Amino acid sequence: MARARASLRMVLGGLLGLASVSCAGPNLWTDLTSVSTGETGRGRVRLPARMRLRGVGYKVPEKWRKRGFNYGTDELVTALQHAAARVRARYWQSTAGFADLSPPEGGPSKWHKSHQSGRDVDVLFYTKLTDGTSLPPPEEDMIVFSNEGKPILPAEYGSYADPNWAERRFDARKNWLFIETLLRDPTIRIQWIFISRPLQALLIAEARKRGRPEWIIAYAETVMQQPGDSLPHDDHMHIRLYCSRADRFHGCVDRGPVWHHEKKTHKYHGPERYDPVLWRQLAAMTEALGG
Ligand SMILES: [Zn+2]
Repeated sequence: MARARASLRMVLGGLLGLASVSCAGPNLWTDLTSVSTGETGRGRVRLPARMRLRGVGYKVPEKWRKRGFNYGTDELVTALQHAAARVRARYWQSTAGFADLSPPEGGPSKWHKSHQSGRDVDVLFYTKLTDGTSLPPPEEDMIVFSNEGKPILPAEYGSYADPNWAERRFDARKNWLFIETLLRDPTIRIQWIFISRPLQALLIAEARKRGRPEWIIAYAETVMQQPGDSLPHDDHMHIRLYCSRADRFHGCVDRGPVWHHEKKTHKYHGPERYDPVLWRQLAAMTEALGG
């Protein structure tokens, strides 16, 4: 009997020990990984990942390079690099243009209302010549595209710095692959892709032409929106991620709709399979490849 009580005490002691370890868990994570806090329009990013200015299949063009807004959550930076590398693997000349993510510690800036908590990014469109040749992103411009994916120079712009601007065509094939890769990435959940309605239509038409599964097309149609209260996003797309599950424990706040219905109508990936330590290692590997 005494022995049984002693072993019970040991078991209880063990459980208490475990409990105290698990209480420390979330805070330990903050030492290892980024944390997005607050909202995208009023927030910060702690221990952000610094995205390299050039990597496999992408670059940060000059105009945005100078601003230094190449910081985001680990999940955002890694997912962007992964998607760009995937498009490059399929189309060897492709180069994504990543404009602003967030400033080093997040927070407000003169450039953006959002982009404050490491979960927003502006992506320049993939473009090509009419013969299909890939073009690298322009260094100083966001080119406006018409409903047919042809470049437009709005009168108020005066001119573009990019000498090739008039030859550029919206590359629906690469833009779709980039978006589909992000939508399928199990480590992130996309809340919005802000992009003009006509360009959405070009992307959906491309997806149908390629015989992409209905669920991923419906998923894309759900998250792609032309915002009513700001620019139509016909010169870039703005992508916003939901808070990661881990970051929600630390004050990350989602605003706006949460796509509950995806669980039924789309192949929902379930919880993000996000392992902070593993993900740092993967990020380091990606960086090494890009170096
Ligand atoms: Zn933006």
